[in-house]
Amino acid sequence: MYVFTKDDLQQNRPQKRRISGKGSRSFITKKRALFAVGLITLVLLGGIWLQKTSTAYAIVINGQQTAVFDSKSQAEQSIANFLKKKSQEIGKPVTTPDKIEIKKVQVEKKDRMFAGNTDKILSEQLSMLVPGAAIVIDGQEKLIVADKESAEKLIQKVKNSFTPQGKDLIVKKLDLKEKIQVAEKNVPVKEIIKEDQAFQLLTVGTEKLVTHIVESGESLWSIAKDNSMKVEDLEAANPQINPDKIQIGDEIKLVKAEPMLHVTAVAEYTEVKTVPFGVEVISDKNVLRGKETVKQDGKDGSKEFKYLLVQVNGQQIDKQFLDATVLSKPVNKVVVKGTKLVLASRGSGGSGQLMWPLRGSITSPFGYRHGEYHTGADIDGDIGDPVRAAEDGKVIYVGRDGNYGKLIKIDHGDGVQTWYAHLSAYEVSSGEKVARGDLIGRVGATGRAYGSHLHFEVRINGNAVNPLKYLD
Ligand SMILES: [Zn+2]
Repeated sequence: MYVFTKDDLQQNRPQKRRISGKGSRSFITKKRALFAVGLITLVLLGGIWLQKTSTAYAIVINGQQTAVFDSKSQAEQSIANFLKKKSQEIGKPVTTPDKIEIKKVQVEKKDRMFAGNTDKILSEQLSMLVPGAAIVIDGQEKLIVADKESAEKLIQKVKNSFTPQGKDLIVKKLDLKEKIQVAEKNVPVKEIIKEDQAFQLLTVGTEKLVTHIVESGESLWSIAKDNSMKVEDLEAANPQINPDKIQIGDEIKLVKAEPMLHVTAVAEYTEVKTVPFGVEVISDKNVLRGKETVKQDGKDGSKEFKYLLVQVNGQQIDKQFLDATVLSKPVNKVVVKGTKLVLASRGSGGSGQLMWPLRGSITSPFGYRHGEYHTGADIDGDIGDPVRAAEDGKVIYVGRDGNYGKLIKIDHGDGVQTWYAHLSAYEVSSGEKVARGDLIGRVGATGRAYGSHLHFEVRINGNAVNPLKYLD
């Protein structure tokens, strides 16, 4: 706006002084003439100003003058048009809480506005309200969304997302920890947030979760230092990690975000577990050793376990055992195992073959040699090599015996015994039960022996027989 001030008249003064310095005689007449000239100038200038300016109408928002129009109706119309246009854009009636006045002002014509140019000014200066809905959590207004319907939908979505699901789950209770209300009100257009943003804030607590991926050589301490954080704050933001055991690739949250809503879900969880069948062995003296027959097939049973799960925002915080029900009992497998040892010579098709007590070449076979009767087979071996039981049985002798040196005898029942001679060490004691293949002693050269070897005998009803016929 242009305002006519005293400064506009200043330019006349120096001229006055110059004239006044010419002489005192004509001073008064000249002064009068000059005054007249000044008055005429003033009137002329005022006339020009009046021609350039005129009465106009300004829109005043909260005391602040904004756009200026030729007529009052133009000013009123431009506001009305603006609000109408905004309402159409947003799809809701736009109102403003601002104090709007139309004031009469004097301005130059060039400063006036056309209705079309006012939109930008009004957008910047006018607060715009639309009907919306505030989500009020524990008495505090937390979020503003488009309307009541979307607020309620959003709350339901949060509840749904934290409802435990699965065919083995029955939800018993679903509670919101916070008291939640929806308040319909006129809200500033700029404060309305989108549904996905609102969902993130309600469930995570922050719109953008800043995380750090652990790299080689980093510790919780160094990550805290690099991000200007305290180690305790990092720990609080990451309750799932073990501070002493962070690993490369672990994701560390750099902000402790607290969800706005906490959904507590209580659900009954049913788990069916397999109960494996056992094996029952029945010994049968009438069946040859090594023979097994399945008398009954085994069948797994099943048991149902019920638990009560408590979750907060999908995280399990408690699991209580409720009860267990047997759905089906397991059926044991029954095996009949023969215990009768009848040594069948090789090739006769019988079972009950003996295991080699030591793997090695036969340095001296069973039978006559140099006029002497050799009652066993000599198997070559080094001192200390393991000697194993040729069959299940009971140790009946551990000790020195003349030419045999250190000797072990095992009784296998059904009149069968095996003897192990020239040993350097015993690994069993008399009376002990052994299984086929068990370590019983060590190869040696005790007694009448030339070089280390195992003298192995098989005795059936007290008579020495050729061991090679019964070894498998
Ligand atoms: Zn021998």
